[in-house]
Amino acid sequence: MTTKAAAAKAENHESSMFEAVLARLDVAAKIYGLSDEVANILRNPEKQVKVSVPVMMDNGKVQVFEGFRTVHSTILGPSKGGIRYAMDVCDDEVKALSAWMTFKCAVANLPYGGAKGGIKCDPRKMSVGELERLTKAYTVAMADVFGPTKDIPAPDMGTSGREMAWLVDAYNKVHRGNFPAVTTGKPVGMGGSLGRDAATGRGVMVATLAALRKMDLSPKNVTCAVQGFGNVGSHAARLLHEQGIMICAIGDHTATFWNEKGIDVNAALRYVKDNGGVLKGFTGGTEIKNTELLTSNVDVLVPAALQNVITEEIAHEIKAKLIVEGANGPTTPEADVILNDKKIIVVPDILANGGGVTVSYFEWVQNNYGYYWTEEEVNAKHDASMGSAFMHVWNFSQKYNTTMRIGAYITALKKVEFGIQAKGNY
Ligand code: GLU
Repeated sequence: MTTKAAAAKAENHESSMFEAVLARLDVAAKIYGLSDEVANILRNPEKQVKVSVPVMMDNGKVQVFEGFRTVHSTILGPSKGGIRYAMDVCDDEVKALSAWMTFKCAVANLPYGGAKGGIKCDPRKMSVGELERLTKAYTVAMADVFGPTKDIPAPDMGTSGREMAWLVDAYNKVHRGNFPAVTTGKPVGMGGSLGRDAATGRGVMVATLAALRKMDLSPKNVTCAVQGFGNVGSHAARLLHEQGIMICAIGDHTATFWNEKGIDVNAALRYVKDNGGVLKGFTGGTEIKNTELLTSNVDVLVPAALQNVITEEIAHEIKAKLIVEGANGPTTPEADVILNDKKIIVVPDILANGGGVTVSYFEWVQNNYGYYWTEEEVNAKHDASMGSAFMHVWNFSQKYNTTMRIGAYITALKKVEFGIQAKGNY
């Protein structure tokens, strides 16, 4: 760990997340030869907004929540990025995630910049009514930040289509009109796009297959462990399983399971649906520790839950030949070095989980167009887009003789640099 990153980590873990972005940015900037001027623009988010949101709780008492939105960049278009509800949401985490959105959108070749928002809260401990009031109060507080041509939110950890529908309702009331394109990830029937729910997991599947082709491995002979069984992990596990890959381990925040003969992913999906959305109590495998999943004896590892789970210590123990990052920021910069030494291919988050924002873009296009596509059309456009993003990043990593992560940063830097130069300055 660099001294700066260690100091930041000692101070609070979130600072180290933005440090993790800057660490990769610095490496990529050097290899690519990015000017200091452009690097400086990208090191500093365009706008950081923090609001205090008082909400009437079910017990009749008012609780004040902290809400955040960071617009990292609007160089390539309106800023885009999710809103997360979690207890560890803070300035620096949102800042790091917003920068990743800038790079992710550029890698996916979308006409967007990057942003991220969040509310420090524990959604699992709140009632539906409390969550609705919180979401609407936050939206009203951010009504001048958000906008269909300005800054377009989406779901992230702890939020879903339900919250996006509330957000649109509050935004519409403030701005006195109908603005479905102010957010994406809405429920189908409320301006949402078919295929959006499964899109991030689908992108992970497309990226995995593309990487396996490069490694000369056939999906039928490959085993995989998926950490996280929420919106990303569950769809990724299902779609990888459909491609003939044997899923030997799955897990969520409540329990983790191993089955060397392969987990019946459809049974796990049914179990989760019938048991409050969690895997605890599932009987289709032996229960193991969460960290054991990361170091289990599989060919492919898909971290699709939290950030910073693949640390230096874990990286030393990883047996997979391929890691496909479904989560944002699952690998620390220190672990990157070890994984590279071990010749493990890492398909980085800003490429691997870009399927979600790609279909968000399709949703926004459909909203603006007022005409909706079939699921087959959405999936076909998504698969083509992810496939070409993968090839771009792969080619850059070969050309610059570097990792796919740095190849992805270089892909993004090239596009953003072009945008900065084309637009000129004040
Ligand atoms: N929250 C998702 C992400 O991190 C989706 C963002 C979006 O669709 O705007 O990529």
